[in-house]
Amino acid sequence: MSGTGALTLHTDTGDRFRLYRLEHLDEIEQLRRMPRSEIDGIRATAHVLPFAVNSYVINELIDWDRVPDDPMFQLTFPQREMLHAADFEQVHRLVKAGAPQSDIQSVVRQIQFGMNPHPAGQSTLNVPMVGGRAIAGIQHKYRETVLFFPSRGQTCLSYCTYCFRWPQFVGIDEMKFAARETDELVGYLRAHPDVSNVLITGGDPLVMRTTLLRRYVEPLLSDDLAGVTTIRIGTKSLAFWPQRFLTDPDADDLLRLFEQVVRSGRHLAFMAHFSHPRELETDVAQRAIARVIATGAVVRTQAPLIRHVNDEADTWARMWSEQVRLGAVPYYMFVERDTGPRDYFEVPLDRGWRIFRDAYSKVSGLARTVRGPSMSATPGKVVIDGVTLIGTEEVFALRFLQARRPEWVGRPFFARFDPDAAWLDDLQPAFGQPEFFFAAGMREIEAEHARSRAVHSTRPGRRAAPTAPAGVS
Ligand SMILES: *Cc1c(COP(=O)(O)O)cnc(C)c1O
Repeated sequence: MSGTGALTLHTDTGDRFRLYRLEHLDEIEQLRRMPRSEIDGIRATAHVLPFAVNSYVINELIDWDRVPDDPMFQLTFPQREMLHAADFEQVHRLVKAGAPQSDIQSVVRQIQFGMNPHPAGQSTLNVPMVGGRAIAGIQHKYRETVLFFPSRGQTCLSYCTYCFRWPQFVGIDEMKFAARETDELVGYLRAHPDVSNVLITGGDPLVMRTTLLRRYVEPLLSDDLAGVTTIRIGTKSLAFWPQRFLTDPDADDLLRLFEQVVRSGRHLAFMAHFSHPRELETDVAQRAIARVIATGAVVRTQAPLIRHVNDEADTWARMWSEQVRLGAVPYYMFVERDTGPRDYFEVPLDRGWRIFRDAYSKVSGLARTVRGPSMSATPGKVVIDGVTLIGTEEVFALRFLQARRPEWVGRPFFARFDPDAAWLDDLQPAFGQPEFFFAAGMREIEAEHARSRAVHSTRPGRRAAPTAPAGVS
C-alpha cells in the first residue's frame, strides 16, 4: 500500500505514515493517558471489529483532550458499547485471561456472524453473470454505473468503525469481490454500452501504488471504450492520508495519471469520503485537495450520518461550506446501513432528515448540490424528502435517486410515519396500501436472479455466484 512506501518518508508535518493495528495498541503514546480499563475495552472490541489507524489520524486529527467523545476518535477506535454487553464481556474475559487465540477466534466469529454481515440477504443481486459465471470484482446495480473492486485496493489507510464493508476486513468474506485483472471488466464494458461510469472502489483504491493503479485505469481509456465517459475513484485518502497527493514518493505520478484521464476527454470524478469538518482543517488536507482539483478532476464529497461522529446539523453545514470554499462539490449524505455496530451509530430516519434539513438551510445554494439523507437499500437509493401531513396521515415522503429499474427514479412515494424507523425495511406503505409500488418489480428481479443462478449452478463445471461483501444491497 502507499503507506508502506511512505514508511521512511518524513512529510512536512514531521509526520510519517505508520499503521497501528491491534497488536500495536500499546505503542500509541496518546492512548497511555487513558485509564487501563478503557484501553482494555478497545482491545477486546478490536478483536471483533476491524481496527487500523495511522499516525496522521492519531497525531493530527484526533483531539486527545476530548477523548473518548472526540468524533475522530469515535471514527477510528472501536468502543466497547459497539458490542452487545454480553458479547463484550465474553471477549473481554478471554482476552484478559490470555486465552489461546483459537478460543478467542471461535467466540469472535460467532459474534461477527450475529452482526448481520450480509444485510438484506441480497448479497448476490449486484453481481453480473456472464455465460453462467459470476464476474468477480464487479458490481452492476444501476444501468449507468459499474463498480470495480481491484484486488489490491481492498484495504484502507485507517478503518472507520462504522464501515459497512467491515466483514471483508475481519475475514468473514474472502476477497471474492476483488478482480484479478481488468480484462474481465473491459470485456464486460464492451458488452454493455449503456455503462458510462466506472467507479473504482474498495477498501480504498488509493492504498495502491500509482504504477499498480495505472494498470487498472489505463485500459479504461482506450478508444474502443469511448462510451465510458467518467472514471470515478472512491477514496478516503484526502481525509486519512493527504500526503498521498503531496509527499508520497509516487504522489506526482498519481496526479499525472489523473491528468491523463482528463486528457483522454473523460471526466475524473474523485468521490471523497469526508466524515467531519476536522478532516478538512489541516494544511496538508487543503493543499492535497487543491492539487487534485488542479489536475482537472472534480472532487465530490459524501459520508454517512453517524451518531457519535457527525449527528449535528452544524457539523454538516460547516463541512459542506468548507468543501465549497476549497472547490469540492457536496454530493451525498447517506443513512448508515443495517450492519455491524449499527445500534451504536444509528440515527433514526426522522432525526436524520431533521439534521439534513437544518444543515441544508444554513448553507449557500452552492452547497445544496448535496442530496440526502439517502438509503442505499436493495431496490435503490431512497432519499427521505421529509415528514409531512397528507390529509390526516403523517407520512414520510420518499423518492428514488437511483433504482434497479430506471423507471422507478423520481416518483414520490409515501410511508407511514414512524419516529423509530431507521431503514427502508422498517417502513410500511402509507394510506393503507398493501405494499410499495416497487415491491412486485423487486420480486421479479429476485426471481430472475434466482433462476439464472439455479440454471447455471446445475451445469457441470460451473461455479455458483460468490458471496458479495457485506453492505451490498
Ligand atoms: C451509489 C451507487 C452508485 C452510484 O450512484 P450515483 O447516484 O450515480 O452516484 C452505483 N452503484 C451502486 C451500487 C451504488 O450504491
